[in-house]
Order: sequence, then C-alpha cells, then structure tokens
Amino acid sequence: MKNVEEALGEKSKELFEEAKKYLVGGVNSPVRAMKPYPFFVSHGKGSKIYSVDGKSFIDYCLAYGPLILGHANEVIVKAVCEQIKLGSTFGTPHELEIEFAKKIASIVPCAEVTRFVNTGTEATMAAIRLARGYTKRKKIIKFAGAFHGAHDYVLVKAGSGATTLSMPDSLGIPEETTRNTILAPFNDEHAIEKIIKEHGNEIACIILEPIIGNAGCILPKHGYLEFLREISEEHGILLIFDEVITGFRVALGGAQEYYNIIPDLATLGKILGGGLPIGAITGKREIMESFAPLGKVYQAGTFNGNPLSLAAGFACVSYLEKNKSKVYAELDEKQRKIRKALENAASKANIDARTYGAPGMFQIYFSKDEVHDYSSALKSNTKLFMKFHAELLKRGIFLPPSQYECNFISLVHNNEDIEETIAKMEEAIKEANKNN
Ligand code: PLP
Repeated sequence: MKNVEEALGEKSKELFEEAKKYLVGGVNSPVRAMKPYPFFVSHGKGSKIYSVDGKSFIDYCLAYGPLILGHANEVIVKAVCEQIKLGSTFGTPHELEIEFAKKIASIVPCAEVTRFVNTGTEATMAAIRLARGYTKRKKIIKFAGAFHGAHDYVLVKAGSGATTLSMPDSLGIPEETTRNTILAPFNDEHAIEKIIKEHGNEIACIILEPIIGNAGCILPKHGYLEFLREISEEHGILLIFDEVITGFRVALGGAQEYYNIIPDLATLGKILGGGLPIGAITGKREIMESFAPLGKVYQAGTFNGNPLSLAAGFACVSYLEKNKSKVYAELDEKQRKIRKALENAASKANIDARTYGAPGMFQIYFSKDEVHDYSSALKSNTKLFMKFHAELLKRGIFLPPSQYECNFISLVHNNEDIEETIAKMEEAIKEANKNN
C-alpha cells in the first residue's frame, strides 16, 4: 500500500511549502496543520472532498461540523446565489433576521430571543459576558476538554486538575483574565458540588458542551445534565449549553431536545450557517434583553445577521425541519453502523477500543477503559489513532486529524459511502495495529 505522501499528492506538498511563506504555518487555523502536510482542496461535492492532486476522500470532517447537507448542496447554493444578487451586507435590519430568529424560537427549546453573530467563538464570548452582566457575578465554570472558541475567558488548560483555578492555555492571556474561570471534570457531580459550595454566589454561569465534541465524543452520564440544571437553578447560576456542534445535529432542537433539558442560554454556530460563517446566542427573553440596545451588556458587529449567512442557514435549517422525521433517525443509524463495525474490527484485531456517538457524530478511542471525561480521554492510544487516520487517508477516507476531534456524518453520506467506509476502516485498523 502507498505511503501517506502518495495518498496526499505532490501538488499539495508544493502548495504547502508555498503557503508557509505567506501564511502562519501554512494554515489559517491550527487544527488544519496535519502531518506530513495537509491536502489542498479543489472542491467538495456531496459526501466527498477533492484535492488539487485529483484525489477524492469520503469526508467525515465536514469542515468540523457545519456541512450536515454535505458539500455544495443545491439547497444552499441556490439560497446564497439568490441572496447575493440582492446584496451581501446591509448594516441595517432585514426581514430574514426576523424570520430566522422566529424559526429558532420554534425549534430550539430555550430560544425566545436571539442575537446573530459571526462565529461560535463570538457567541460564547458574548454569552458569558451576558451571564456575568445579568447575574452581576464574575466567575464561570467550564469543563476540562471542552472548547468554546479561542477567546480569553475559556482558553484555559484542559485537564489541569479538578476544581483548580485555571491557568491560561495560551501565551498572551493575562492570568487575571482566566482567574475567574473554574475548571471542572465532566460527569463528576461531587466536583461541581464542591465548587459551588466554595464559590456558589460568585458564579455567573456553567458553560458546557452537552456532548463534548472537542475531546473526541464524550457523552453526559445518565442524569448528569439534570443535575447541572437543578444545581444551577438552585444557586442562581445560569446554565449555558454551547450547542455550536450539537445544535441541529443530534436533534433538530439540539442536545437540549435530545436530552430534554432546557438551559437558560444556548450558543449556536456551524450548522446554523449552512456552511457560511455564523454564530448566535439565544435564550430566555429576560436574560437576552440585558444585551444592548435594551440592556447594558455590550455586543456589536458589522457583519452580525449577515444576509448571506442567514440565507444559507435558513435554507439549511428549513430543510432539516421539513425532513426532521427521517433526518435524525438516519443520522443515528449511520453512526451506530459505523461504530459497530469499528468495534468489531478492533475486536478482531485484538485491540482495546471504545466508541461513542450520537446522531451524526462519533469517535473511537483506542482505550481499555470507559471514556467519560477529559482525563480518561487522554489515556487512549493516540499514536494508534494517528496511524489509523493515516491508513484511512491512504484509502480515501478523511477524518479530522486528531483523536480529540469528533467525526461528523452528513445526510448525503449514502449506503455505498458507509459500506465503503466500514470496509476500509476494518483494513485500516488491522494495518495500523501491525506496526503499533
Ligand atoms: N463552541 C464549540 C463547541 C466549538 O466546537 C467551536 C468550534 O469548533 C466553537 C465554539 C467556536 O466556533 P467558531 O470556530 O465558529 O468560532
């Protein structure tokens, strides 16, 4: 079998050398810095992504989540083409803002009022500021291994120990900024009780990915979200579900519908924009109206409510809504099928493995033990995962290049794609294990 460079291609290698001269590290986001080099994309269509070297890959990265309808879906292309003829940005209100916010209110359980922004990062930053402004408290709780965008409040070292006050995870973030961010281990009720006992009336919010998609795929234990809902309510702490990944993915109404727990606020992104840049904060009117211009929590943006992103997102969410009864059953069936095949393949190859998933998302950890939080995720065999990843690339399957990302499935991954993926995953596990 060919080596990875052969699978990636010469032209991508040349482009990466050129890119490094003009772009930091050759990429515009660190997660794209794949070894030995990333493949450069010429285009995407349906479930596949095509490289400048003429290679095609069945895509389970899907731009890290937004492309639930696959690449270049006609529904999105049409919506964007129609909108761009009418203008790409206005700087004044337009009707689609109302229509889309109304749709979100009818779909997302906690949503009453929405503010559209441009990225998930902006959304969580504003949601935390809103929680602080509304409660007049400073501290926040975030979970180890959870990612809420690359801004100062939440970029704290994951896994640095339960309940400790956090240190910044990046140079350039003053310690003072993250001093008010308290890290907690996911799925651990005692840790939260302890933090709240010590700091209860100083805590503005608990922000969480209800399914942690930034440490692989870590599911909440039965009853854990209920626990968070109850304890936060009891102590006047706002509960924020960061549904940038899970929104419109695990159910139309996101993880809050899937698990039937209604947070005070939610942040949305990715699928919400149908493949164009977007973010949103949504939630209870009383809290949301603390945002300017009604309230004193400032949030603003030139491109907020951008008509192109809203047109693409509205088309995407409307499609999902119209086809809801089959969309989520299908996404669930596909992830279950792939996970079962992965487990069988690992067991045949005598490898310890655990798989986790929810509709449209899944991950495998090469680990003997259950993965229920960041520290258990860190125990998995990441070397073997990267070998598995490389073997898959050689076979025309693209997963995000990290154990700590989640794999995504779209509606246009058809049975043929899934069968091909399963067969190649079995080969890849066997091959990766040979030189483990
Ligand atoms: N929240 C979660 C759960 C995410 O996964 C991400 C990005 O991956 C973000 C927030 C940040 O979103 P964006 O990359 O659009 O800024």
